[in-house]
Amino acid sequence: MTSESTLTIGVLVPEVLGTYGDSGNAVVLAQRARWRGFEAEVVEVNLQSAIPRSLDIYTMGGGEDTAQALASRYLRGDRGLHDVVAKDRPVLAICAGMQVLGEWYTDATGRKVEGVGLLDLTTEPQDKRSIGELVTEPFIDGVDEFLTGFENHGGATTLGDEARPLGRVIHGMGNGGAGVEPVDGCLQGSIVATYMHGPVLARNPLLADYLLSQAVGEALKPLDNPEICELRQQRLSAAAAV
Ligand code: GLN
Repeated sequence: MTSESTLTIGVLVPEVLGTYGDSGNAVVLAQRARWRGFEAEVVEVNLQSAIPRSLDIYTMGGGEDTAQALASRYLRGDRGLHDVVAKDRPVLAICAGMQVLGEWYTDATGRKVEGVGLLDLTTEPQDKRSIGELVTEPFIDGVDEFLTGFENHGGATTLGDEARPLGRVIHGMGNGGAGVEPVDGCLQGSIVATYMHGPVLARNPLLADYLLSQAVGEALKPLDNPEICELRQQRLSAAAAV
């Protein structure tokens, strides 16, 4: 984007991927951009419309099994995200958002659903739902503090060779799965994916700024925000207490 233009942040299909409040990630991105003097606008993309290829950042939230199957069908049919990822535009995918971007997932009823194929991962139901605080040590340059979020999912995700984990689990389950290294989420191309709700960017300003800096093409100066520091301390303490 140019410095005079408006930063546009997409929220993809919140009517089916809006159950867990992850649309707040776009609000956080817009506000952090405005605090730096950028104009910013949140753009909702619904199932009836085509995915605009011109946005600066794309976000996808979590959802329930039936609803996320609709999201998967829509995203496979539209193929807008394929174009966006080919142009290295940043995409943030949370929980069901991550699962549908994978090769396939099997839902809690045993139904196997074809994914969008942008992430080298697959998801299968685990015996016990993972619910609670999730804390990880991230593997992204410039994000050098723990990531904190809330996970609530029945699926366990296995990464293939093309997908790197987003972080090493310190507390909680993350991608889960028996006998695998405890990691959360994934990084592949311009996509950042995680099981963390919160919304994750409200709790993790460095991750928000990482995505923003990818979109604006420059490093961003840190912002001093004591409320966010306090929130982080509270959530990290909550995880340590259980
Ligand atoms: N329905 C999916 C699961 O339970 C994703 C849930 C979510 O997005 N929180 O695994």
